[in-house]
Amino acid sequence: MSVRLFAFTCGWLEASLDLFLPDHEGRIRVPVPSYLIEHPKGRAVFDTGMHPQTQTDARGRLGWLADVFDVGFAPGEELTGRLAAADVDPSRIDLLVNSHLHFDHAGGNELLENARWVVQRREWEAARDADIGPQHGLHPEDWDHGHDVLPIDGEHDLFGDGSVVCLPTWGHTPGHQSLLVRLDSGDVVLTGDACYLRRTLEEMLVPRIAWDAEAMRESLQLLRRLQQRGARLFYGHDPEFWQTVPQGVAIE
Ligand SMILES: [Zn+2]
Repeated sequence: MSVRLFAFTCGWLEASLDLFLPDHEGRIRVPVPSYLIEHPKGRAVFDTGMHPQTQTDARGRLGWLADVFDVGFAPGEELTGRLAAADVDPSRIDLLVNSHLHFDHAGGNELLENARWVVQRREWEAARDADIGPQHGLHPEDWDHGHDVLPIDGEHDLFGDGSVVCLPTWGHTPGHQSLLVRLDSGDVVLTGDACYLRRTLEEMLVPRIAWDAEAMRESLQLLRRLQQRGARLFYGHDPEFWQTVPQGVAIE
């Protein structure tokens, strides 16, 4: 049995296009992706989308961010609903990996209570620092749920055989990471918010909101090198790309 990858859309966010592509006018509606990886040694989830409270009380959950983002998120679209529809029991997810700890990537962490949480140490430390975390959108209600924690430093091979590997892509947040998944059909890189859109990479458009713009540029260059070597990039929030991604079935 080889590695299988499943993609889920756990809601949508609409916001000013300028947030994603600097100096661009208009609005954009973007998907909130979550992924399941099935490996012979266990199941991993990469990013957990938004918390179900966001479906009915976005302001209560997100505070001022509810002014920035219009949330489109219906019951059943949360991670556990998506997993159930794919016949996967959320209590049997072994590993929980977040690209980073923003509300649209870690909001569903609470739903995977039995998973071991694989987190970049520098992301976790920033999130736990009361002077840094909340200022940068790393809120305890998303990530502080008593998971068994495996802090990692940089590249990390999840199952020990090179098939699913965390890749440090710092910049969007202090400890942002992407995930390399080796399918039979070739390598896939789940970029997370290291690369919002295809155009982000093609035009090297570093978003105007970043923890470290220079680090983000370097991460984009890494993603470009991986792409040049044949990896398929799954962009963090690209609505056009997302239309080409089959939902809830193993990606070929
Ligand atoms: Zn995001």
